[in-house]
Amino acid sequence: MAGSTAIRGTRVGSGPMGENERGESAPRRHVTFFCAKGHVSTPSFSLEVEVPETWDCPRCGLPAGQNQAAPPPEPRIEPYKTHLAYVRERRSDEDGAAILEEALARLRARRGDV
Ligand SMILES: [Zn+2]
Repeated sequence: MAGSTAIRGTRVGSGPMGENERGESAPRRHVTFFCAKGHVSTPSFSLEVEVPETWDCPRCGLPAGQNQAAPPPEPRIEPYKTHLAYVRERRSDEDGAAILEEALARLRARRGDV
C-alpha cells in the first residue's frame, strides 16, 4: 500500500512531541467468531484489513461466523453415494422384493391350483 510508505516518510522531520509512538503497534480490533459446534474464537485484525465474514475455527476447523445465533453450517462432505443414488438403490431393492414376492405368490397360487 502507498499509505504505509507515506506514513514512514513523515517520521523524517517530525517534531519531538510524542511522534515516536506512532506506528509502534498498529491498532487492532478483536472480532468474535462462533462456529457451529459452539466454539468461540476471538482473533484480532488490523484496522486496515477487512474482517472476513467467516473464520476457520481454530479448535475444529469449521467455518465460524460473527453471528452466534446463526453460525455457518457445517460443510457437508459428499458421501460416496449421493442421496439420490441411495434412494434409487433402496427403491430397486424394494422393487426387487416386490417382484420376488409376486413371483412367490404366483408360484404358490399355481401349486394351489394343482
Ligand atoms: Zn469449532
